[in-house]
Amino acid sequence: MANIPFNKDLTFEYGVVDQVSPMIRRVIARNPSAFTLHGTGTYIVGTGQVAVIDPGPDDPEHIQAILDAVKGETVSHIIITHTHRDHSPGAAPLKAETGAHVWGCGPHGHGRISKATDGGTSDEGADTDYMPDTLVNDADILDTKGWSFQAVHTPGHTSNHTCFHLREENVLFSGDHVMGWSTTIVSPPDGDMYRYMQSLEKLLLRSDAHYWPTHGPRIDQPKAYVGELLKHRQEREEQIAQCLRQDIGAIPDMVKAMYTDVPEHLHSAAARSVLSHLVHMVETKRAACDGAPGADSIFRTA
Ligand SMILES: [Zn+2]
Repeated sequence: MANIPFNKDLTFEYGVVDQVSPMIRRVIARNPSAFTLHGTGTYIVGTGQVAVIDPGPDDPEHIQAILDAVKGETVSHIIITHTHRDHSPGAAPLKAETGAHVWGCGPHGHGRISKATDGGTSDEGADTDYMPDTLVNDADILDTKGWSFQAVHTPGHTSNHTCFHLREENVLFSGDHVMGWSTTIVSPPDGDMYRYMQSLEKLLLRSDAHYWPTHGPRIDQPKAYVGELLKHRQEREEQIAQCLRQDIGAIPDMVKAMYTDVPEHLHSAAARSVLSHLVHMVETKRAACDGAPGADSIFRTA
């Protein structure tokens, strides 16, 4: 079985900024949940002229905490990894206060339209109001006097998900693509398991020293970590294939059979991930169902 070294340990105080590396500060929003752990970790990079990565929810208390943290400094850029409501809505009020330029992923649902017709949504919720000043494509570079970023497009969690490499410290801000404390939710139609797994493989080709995820502590030895995440997904697909061989064809029944170690209030999120695997398995002829795969479909071996 995959052995992912999840870590939930984070020492922090809401509203108080932490210097987590020579160039990086972090302040955590007060939006704890089953999906965000303690809350959204907003990163501030640089000194004097700074970038703010994922200002989080549109929460006046959190925006004020960011502004307090950068008092006397200039926020020149706001960088956005993806358009879930715990990441991007803070961009608009922070831009209004600072005049910063929003350099980030595209608007929500900017990537390919999934074949899944199922209308379910992620539990995190989508921010459809977000619009960047500059839409960042894979490998784009933002270079300033004090720091520079390169974008790494990593679709899967959402179609627009983008990680950002801080070149001066050789670290990757991994957003929700790779989280420190839990696996990532991949919820169709905007979430796409096949692309998510491709995006994990893309990270295996890199040599980042650490990841800074939005939720959870710093990830050390990121390649080994990502390798375990991939293994975990491959094992899930094998479990699903096993369910199909045993004629367990409804997603809620598969979740009950497979997620014995996951509390029941997270089963609806687990069901979204199973659907996402099945969409991919139907596409690659390893599973079948009548019509387009959806949450209520009955699946069988192909
Ligand atoms: Zn997210």
